[in-house]
Parts: sequence; C-alpha cells; structure tokens
Amino acid sequence: MKSKIKEIHQQLVSKEISCTNLVQGKLKLLKQNTHNTVNYLLDSLALELAKKVDEKIAKGETIGLLEGIPFGVKDVFMLQGIPTTASSKFLKNYKSSYTATAIQKLLDAGAIPIVKENCDSFGHGSSSENTIFGAVKNALNPALVGGGSSGGSAVNVAKEYTVFSIGGDTGGSIRQPAGYNKVYGLKPTYGLISRYGLIAYASSTDCVGPIATSIEDIRIVLNTIRGKDVRDQTTYASDEILADSSSRTSTIKTVGYYSSFVKSDAISPETKASFLATIQKIKEKGIKVKELDFFNADVLVSTYYTLAMAETASNLSRLDGTNYGKRIDGDNLKESYAITRSENFSEESKRRIVGGNQVLSQGFSDEIYIKAQRLRNQISSRFSKDFLEVDVVLSPVTPATPPKIGESLKNPLAMYLSDAYTVGFSLGELPTLTIPNGTETGLQITADKKNETQILQFANFLNDIL
Ligand code: GLN
Repeated sequence: MKSKIKEIHQQLVSKEISCTNLVQGKLKLLKQNTHNTVNYLLDSLALELAKKVDEKIAKGETIGLLEGIPFGVKDVFMLQGIPTTASSKFLKNYKSSYTATAIQKLLDAGAIPIVKENCDSFGHGSSSENTIFGAVKNALNPALVGGGSSGGSAVNVAKEYTVFSIGGDTGGSIRQPAGYNKVYGLKPTYGLISRYGLIAYASSTDCVGPIATSIEDIRIVLNTIRGKDVRDQTTYASDEILADSSSRTSTIKTVGYYSSFVKSDAISPETKASFLATIQKIKEKGIKVKELDFFNADVLVSTYYTLAMAETASNLSRLDGTNYGKRIDGDNLKESYAITRSENFSEESKRRIVGGNQVLSQGFSDEIYIKAQRLRNQISSRFSKDFLEVDVVLSPVTPATPPKIGESLKNPLAMYLSDAYTVGFSLGELPTLTIPNGTETGLQITADKKNETQILQFANFLNDIL
C-alpha cells in the first residue's frame, strides 16, 4: 500500500479536492457507520480547521504534509474542551481540561482530528466490547469483534473513515486490533512518545502509537509525535526516522522466532501453518532464521496481568466521584466512594481493580507483585540476550482469528490468554509493528529498544516477499 497521507496531500495541493469536502466526506462515513467506532464526532472543530487549510491553499501558501489530513483519536486521549470518556460510564460527562502531547503535535502539524474513537473502557480488554458505546464490529466481518482495546481506531483506519488513528498500547491494544482488521499498527519503544494526556492504564507499559494503512504513513506520523517531553519523565530525545530507512533492501541478516509461541496449545493450526510458511519464505531469501527459547505464554500472560492489574488499581484510585466522575452519595464518605465506584466501573474494570489491590496488599505483595517484577526483569534480560544473536524477532500477533461478538465477555480468562504474543514485548519495552500479512491476523516485527528504523525497513522487505 502506498502512503495515503502523501496521496491526499498531492490532491489538496493540486486543488483536485478541497479539505472541507474531504473532511465532510469522512464525517459522513463515520456518522453512517454501523461498526460502533464513534464515541464523539468533532464536526465543528474539524470543519473550522479544514476551512483554514482551504484558505491557505487558495492564497497559494504552502502546506505541510500532514496539514488537512483527517485522523482519529482513541477516546483515552485528552483534547481540550472535548469529552474524553475512556468509553466508561465513570467519565461519560468528563471534558478534557488540556490536550495530550501527541495530539497537540499533530494539531501543530495541521492534521485534523475528526473523531474520538470507541475502545475498551480504560484500555481494559482485547475485543472493544467492554464499552458503554456498544461493541466495536470488525471491519472485515461485522459478526466478529474489532479487537481491543483500540478497536474503534483500527476499524476506522481499515474502513478508511480516518486516514490514520492514534491508539494506546499497554499490552497489545494497537497491535492486536491492527492484526484483526488487517492494517498496520506500531507500539514504539517505551518512552519514544509522550504519554502526557493519555488516561493511564498501566504506566510502566503504556505507549502511544499510530495505526495506518501503509508503512510510510506509520513513519510520517511517528516522526511527528515522537520526542522528549518535560511532562513525561520517561520520554527521551530521538532522531528522525528517514525515508530511505523504509527502503526495499533488507539490512536484516538474522531473524529469530520463539519456539514456545509456535508450540503453544493455544495456536490455531492455520496460524501455525501460515507463520511457518512465512519463516520458510524468509529463509529462501537467504536470511538466517534462528529458533529461540522463550518463556511460555502462560508465564508472560500472568506476569503482565499481575503488574497491569496492580498498576491500574493504583491509577484508577483517583476516580471516586470527588474530582472526576458522577458522584453517588451514600450515608458517609466511605460509602459514597464505594457506591460511586461500584456503579460506575464496568465488570471487567472491577475485576482488575479487585485483583490489583489484592496483589498489592500486605502479605501478598512479596508473594505475587514482587515475584512478577522479578519475572519481568528476567524477560527483559532474555530479550537483551536474544538481540545479540538476531536483528529482529518475528511472531504471530494472536494465536487465533478474532472471536465472535459476545464470546470474550463470557470467558475473560480465554480473552487474557489471547494476548499471549503481545504482552511480552510490552514488558520488555520493545518496539513492535503489526503488519497485515504473514498469518490470518498478521505478523509482529520486534526489534531491540530504539530500533524502529530497522522494523520499518524489514516490514517493507516482507511486504515485497509475502
Ligand atoms: N488486552 C490487554 C489488556 O486488557 C491489553 C490492553 C491494552 O493494551 N490496553 O490488558
């Protein structure tokens, strides 16, 4: 796929289309869509910004590459004056008091936000069914889930309702829905993009990233939103990813894959066969392939969920109806908190808050929380060792194809296990890109920290050979 951003930019500059018409068209598609991708349409803001772009073009002024490009925002990012609900009952009426850094950078580049997108509430889920706005339906088959938690964003991109969308990925929430809807989605190295203004789920793995229909568009957006931010101490300064780094020749000499992923009981025979066929094609191109030993999926999933639940319990403790959310009064303060929180949080979020508080409580924290931290360190050391031997690691995105709508809600444990291939890379803070080919739900390309360039390069190479 070629860059949609560049294509639209050319059409705007040559006056083949007007920005107002472009934005109106996308808003209409979003309004009419039956996939439940929309929490809130930004019509007046978007049309006002589009008018300004048209005026600039009419005056013969030059416009930047992202100027006038309509994009979607997962409804967990602040945009001043606009509702940010996190798809939850709790924040149903909350209006953002400031703008997230990543979104501000896009606004500064002239891109136009057109929609706040449906997702699993507070990022809790893998199907985008845990939301007050109705289950997100898959772009390719509406009987199936859109994936989660950034389901609305991936479906909007796949249906071309938005040119690109900004998602959040804590344990797979960009990569998994990208795979389920056959588009590209990147979770960058932890700290490449500021989390300021993203409603925190698990702060130690929360990442911001783009979903798009081409590798080039991923690169363009990534370059715009990355960078050190004084408001997020975990960010670092980074170099621009250059266009020629997305060239067709692979500088990748050795590719690794995890035998435990392929041998897992959970993997469907189709995913396994297509993944191994992809590995074969890579070998035939003269690239060395190394089978690596790794932790079993259940270790990765339990380590991730132990830590994610602990962190979300702590992060969400601020929601008690006092500063945020609709307060429901009880007989005393303690009761008011209890009623407010039990009425406003979803079943899935409550499960995680209860689990997380248990993990952190005295008498349990050594046994469970500290043990999970230790395992996380071991996982990270294993990655460091592996990247001495291979340039990138290739893996399926999910063990199987998207479930039917309703299935995940009935079986949360099965839903947690469907994250088996994504959560490990989150714990390792590694950059990972989902590409929409190689298996039924795509492939993940992972490199060592700060090696996004290598990933994009290899993605282009794979695009040519698969
Ligand atoms: N499905 C995973 C979870 O529910 C990942 C979600 C995410 O990345 N926000 O924790």
